[in-house]
Amino acid sequence: MKVDLEAEKREILRRYRGLLRSSSRSHTAAEKKQIRKAFDVALEAHKDMRRKSGEPYIYHPIAVARIVAQEIGLDTTGIVCALLHDTVEDTYVTLDDIETLFGKKERQIIDGLTKISGVFDHSTSAQAENFRKMLLTLSDDIRVILIKLADRLHNMRTLDSMVREKQLKIASETLFMYAPLAHRLGLYNIKTELEDLSLKYKEPVQYEDIVSKLQKTSAVRTRFINRFMLPIKRELEKEKFKFEIKGRTKSVFSIWNKMQVKKVSFEDVYDVFAIRIIYDSPLEKEKSQAWKVYSIVTDFYQPNPDRLRDWISIPKANGYESLHTTVMSPTGKWVEVQVRSRRMDELAEKGYAAHWKYKEGEAVESNLDSWLAQIREVLESDSENALDFIDNFKLNLFSEEIYVFTPNGDLKTLPKGSTSLDFAFHIHSQVGSQCIGAKVNHKLVPLSHELKSGDQVEVLTSKKQTPKEDWLNFAVTARARQKIKTALKEEKKMIASEGKEILRRKFRNMKVDFLSINITELERFFKVDSATDLYYKIARGKIDLSKMKAFEVQNGRLELVKSKVVKQQEEEEEKPTLTPVVNSKDTLLIGDQKQEFDFTLAKCCNPIPGDDVFGFITIHDGIKIHRVNCPNATELMSNYAYRVIKARWASKELVEFEVKLKFTGIDDVGLVHNITNIISSDMNVNMKGLSFESNDGIFEGDVRVLVTDTDHLSVLVDKLKSVDGVLTVDRVDSDVFS
Ligand code: MN
Repeated sequence: MKVDLEAEKREILRRYRGLLRSSSRSHTAAEKKQIRKAFDVALEAHKDMRRKSGEPYIYHPIAVARIVAQEIGLDTTGIVCALLHDTVEDTYVTLDDIETLFGKKERQIIDGLTKISGVFDHSTSAQAENFRKMLLTLSDDIRVILIKLADRLHNMRTLDSMVREKQLKIASETLFMYAPLAHRLGLYNIKTELEDLSLKYKEPVQYEDIVSKLQKTSAVRTRFINRFMLPIKRELEKEKFKFEIKGRTKSVFSIWNKMQVKKVSFEDVYDVFAIRIIYDSPLEKEKSQAWKVYSIVTDFYQPNPDRLRDWISIPKANGYESLHTTVMSPTGKWVEVQVRSRRMDELAEKGYAAHWKYKEGEAVESNLDSWLAQIREVLESDSENALDFIDNFKLNLFSEEIYVFTPNGDLKTLPKGSTSLDFAFHIHSQVGSQCIGAKVNHKLVPLSHELKSGDQVEVLTSKKQTPKEDWLNFAVTARARQKIKTALKEEKKMIASEGKEILRRKFRNMKVDFLSINITELERFFKVDSATDLYYKIARGKIDLSKMKAFEVQNGRLELVKSKVVKQQEEEEEKPTLTPVVNSKDTLLIGDQKQEFDFTLAKCCNPIPGDDVFGFITIHDGIKIHRVNCPNATELMSNYAYRVIKARWASKELVEFEVKLKFTGIDDVGLVHNITNIISSDMNVNMKGLSFESNDGIFEGDVRVLVTDTDHLSVLVDKLKSVDGVLTVDRVDSDVFS
C-alpha cells in the first residue's frame, strides 16, 4: 500500500496543533518552545515506527499528551514527558539525552515511565508487584502514574487493531488495575471510559446490546426526568438559583455489572439513574445552598432517611464532594438526587485537575504542585489498600520481621529467616501441607528458600504432597513446625491403621488370634518399638510379612521356630530385599475436551462446546475450564497469567494422536512446571497426562500428549530436551494410538 507521506506530515502537524490548543491554559513562549522540542525529539525518534493500525507511531504520544493536558490537566512538564514517554523504551534516545535536552525532572519521570511499563506489560505480572513498583515510583513523581493512565486510555481507545487474545489481556488488566486507580485519583471520567472500553472488548455482544437499548430508551427517561423535575425547577427559579439539571444514566459498564451481580435484566436496571442538580455558587455559600436545594427537593418528594449522604461536610478520600439523597417519585420509583455546585461537579468528573481553575491569582505551577501533593495524600491516607503498604511500613526499618506479599497483594508479616514453607503454612495449614515449592518474584524456589522483605510469594501445591520429616530442618516459625509435627503424627496414625488391617487379615488367614500377646511377639521379632510402629512399617511395606513363616500357630498363638529363622536369614543373604520406592509421585493431568482427563468445567460459567475457553490451574482443584467471558476471567487472566493455559474444544477436522514420551533427568522442584509449560503454552500441544517419580535426585517420567504428526512430535521432543535438568526424552512406541 502506498502511503502519502506529505499528507501524513500535514496530519501529524495538525494533531500537534490540536494538542497545543487542548491545553487548559495558554503557554508562555518558553513553555511552547519546550513542548515543541519534545515533539521534535519524539517525531524524529519514532519516525520509522508505525502502530499496529499502520498509522505513524507519533500519533500515539501526541494523543497521550493531549489526554494529559486536556483530561487530566497536567502542565508543560507533563505534556513534554507524555510526548517522550515511549522514546527511551523503544528508540535510541537515552535518559542522558532527556536530561541534557530537558532536565532532571523530565529524566526522572521518563525513567519512572520506562520502568513501570516493564512491570505493567509483563505477561506474568501480578497485582502485588505492580502496586509495589508503582509505589516506589510514586515517591518520585505522581505524574508518572498520571501519564501511564493516559497512555493506557489511548491504548484502550485504539485497541481495535490488536489481535483478540491481546485485546482480552489488555482489557482485563485495565479493568483490574487501571480503572480502580483512576477512580482512586478522582479521575471519574477516565475511570468510566476505561471500564466501558474494557467491557466493549471483553463482552462485545452484551456491550453493544446495552448501548443500543440505552439509545432506544432515552426518550422515556427524558420524559420521566422532565416530569419529575418540573415542580423543583419552578421552585429553584423562584429562589433565583442558577442551575443545570443532568439526568445521567449509569455507564454501560455499571449497568452490565449490576445485571451480573444482581442477576437481573436490562429492563430492571436501565431506569435506575441519578438526577443531578448543579448550581452556581460562590465558594463560601456552597454548603448552605446545597441544603437549600435539598430542602426544596424533599418538599416535593419523600426522602429515604437511610440514603442521605453528605459528602460536602466530609468529602470522600478521593476528593469527591456532593450531597446525595434518594426520594420516592410519584410513580413509586426511588430516584437518587445529587446536589452539588459547579466546582464540585467538575471536581467529580475531572478530579483535582479541575482545582486550578478555582484558585485564580496563584501561580499555576504552584497550584499544580499542591494538587499533586493532594493526590499523594489521597493515596497515602486510605489504609485498607495495598497501595499504602510500602510507604506506611518502611520495610527496611523493621529488621526482625519481614513483610511479604501474596499474589493478590495481601501483606503478610513473618519472622526474619522464614522460608517459603513457613509462608505456605502462614497462609493455611493445608496449603503448607501440600506445598511442593514456591515462586518468589516469579522465580521458582525450593521450600527451604529464605524470604526477604518485599518478596512476592506464590505457593505451589500438589494434592499428592504430604508433610515430610525433613521439613523440620527448614521450617522456622512455631506455627509451621507444630503443624508439620502434628501432620506427621496424624499421617503415621492413619497409615498405621491400614497396616493394622493388613495384619488382621494376615492373622485371619493364618488362624492367629488378634491378641496383644501375638502383637508383642511380632514387635520383638521385627525389632520395632511399638505396635503403631509395627503397623506403620507393615503398611509402608518396610516389614515383609512373609517372614512370618518363621512362626508356627498353636491354638491361635504365634510360636517362633528357631530353625526357620536361621534358614530365612540365609535366604536373605542371597537376595537382599529391595527398598520400596518412596512415594513421591506428583501427577499432573491436563486434559482437553475428553472426559476421562483430570479437568473440570468451572461452575461459575459452565462452558459448553463452542465457547471461547481457557484453562486455569487452581491451587486445590486441578484445572478448571472457564469461558473467556466468565465473570472471574478478568481477575484470573490479569493476575495469574502464568496459571492460564490455552484450552479449546475438540475440532473434528484436526485428528490428533496420543504419544507417550519417557524422560529422565535430574530432580528439581521446577522441572515438572517447566515441562508442563513447554508442552501446554509453548507448543500448543494437548497434554493428556504427566507423571513422574523421583528417587535420590533422579527422576523418571511419562507424559502422554496429543500431536498431529511426527514433525509436530519432533519439535516437541527437541523443546523438552532443552529444559534444564532433562537428560533424555524417548518415544515409547507401544503406547502410541492407544
Ligand atoms: Mn505508550
